[in-house]
Amino acid sequence: MNASLVVVGGGPVGLAFALAASRLANVEVTVVERSTTPAAPITSPSMFDHRVFALSPASLDFLRGLGASPDPARAAHVRAMQVWGDDANRQSHLDLAQGQPIATIVEHTALMFALEQAVSRVEGIRVVRGAVLKAMRTNGDRRELEMADGSVLQADLLVGADGSRSQIRDWAGIATETKDYESDGIVANFNGEFAHGDVARQWFTNESVLAYLPLPQNQISIVWSVLRTKSAALKEIPDNEFCIAVEAAGHNTLGKLTLASPIARFPLARVLARHWVEAGLALMGDAAHAIHPLAGQGVNLGFADARTLVEILRNRSKFSAPGDVAVLRKYERARCEATLGLSEVTDKLRALYLSDAKAAGWIRNEGLTLLNRLPHAKAALIDYAIG
Ligand SMILES: Cc1cc2nc3c(=O)[nH]c(=O)nc-3n(C[C@H](O)[C@H](O)[C@H](O)COP(=O)(O)OP(=O)(O)OC[C@H]3O[C@@H](n4cnc5c(N)ncnc54)[C@H](O)[C@@H]3O)c2cc1C
Repeated sequence: MNASLVVVGGGPVGLAFALAASRLANVEVTVVERSTTPAAPITSPSMFDHRVFALSPASLDFLRGLGASPDPARAAHVRAMQVWGDDANRQSHLDLAQGQPIATIVEHTALMFALEQAVSRVEGIRVVRGAVLKAMRTNGDRRELEMADGSVLQADLLVGADGSRSQIRDWAGIATETKDYESDGIVANFNGEFAHGDVARQWFTNESVLAYLPLPQNQISIVWSVLRTKSAALKEIPDNEFCIAVEAAGHNTLGKLTLASPIARFPLARVLARHWVEAGLALMGDAAHAIHPLAGQGVNLGFADARTLVEILRNRSKFSAPGDVAVLRKYERARCEATLGLSEVTDKLRALYLSDAKAAGWIRNEGLTLLNRLPHAKAALIDYAIG
């Protein structure tokens, strides 16, 4: 009899896991997704989704292997990264130019469309859309998922890929370590006056972290992490003044900026599950770990979770079942440390940059220049970015 894998959450990580898991022998995969409508890609050549991902080369390889590469015509490569401190008169920058793309900027809708198309081509994956979950129960070695319409799904392995507010994690009683950053991530796209040159730029000051990510056609996508009080003030100003504020925060590097998308705001918090697995259940992606977006690594971590769990399921002994806790603990051990490491780094970087302390100011400026001169440290940072 086939083992039943049920994935709750048809976001990027849940769908990537479903695709990879459908290639295991003797499994059937069901994806349960709350939203009713699949992703529709934006077709206008000059309009881009304001929500983008910086995908690492490892993530792109993984997606390619799954037959789910996002449309390259709408993606932009990052060939260099420059990072500034907050001393406007003496900008130090960290130039990570390496020739090879460090990351590729992909729209959320384009990524979701590619994954959903790939899923629709696989017979072994059933997608239940518009699902409303009512309860989760343990039934022997299996998990039962009761839906609001009265139907019940039986899972040998239930995967919670349902985002940072995971219902599955709550029902399993898995505690989280949560830190509200009291900040919003403001995202929007702009046309720049000057060419971005395939460079991602980031400015750290004691009140915000701003990233300019390159898009095709000389557009950029920004992620501006600002304290909630500043975010509320920015919400009140007209679009033309918002453009001027973004130009000024980016030291006018790309000249005049013109808004090319709606402006969206996401509350930022770090949410780490205390454990990721139990018998018959595994968490992955933001359900296991939501981190600050300043490193642009959230979905890359989730894809690595998906890839690792499938590898471990594939290589397990033939006497074990997919939901065996000993098998699942291998996955937790393999992924937890790397994820906690990155989560700590982004958390500490954020704290350092938002600090008014003299030493923090020094590192914001001199420290980056120093790092730029240290080839080994720079190489380590690039490795981290490339994943
Ligand atoms: C401002 C900002 C910028 C970011 N920039 C980047 C970046 O550049 N690069 C990067 O790698 N990451 C970035 N991230 C992080 C990235 O968005 C997340 O890490 C990623 O979306 C996690 O994917 P996921 O599939 O785990 O969860 P989600 O994308 O949250 O998907 C979860 C899915 O589960 C579904 N769901 C939820 N609850 C239920 C339920 N009860 N029943 C059924 N379905 C349910 C949802 O509808 C959704 O489809 C950014 C985040 C923010 C806030």
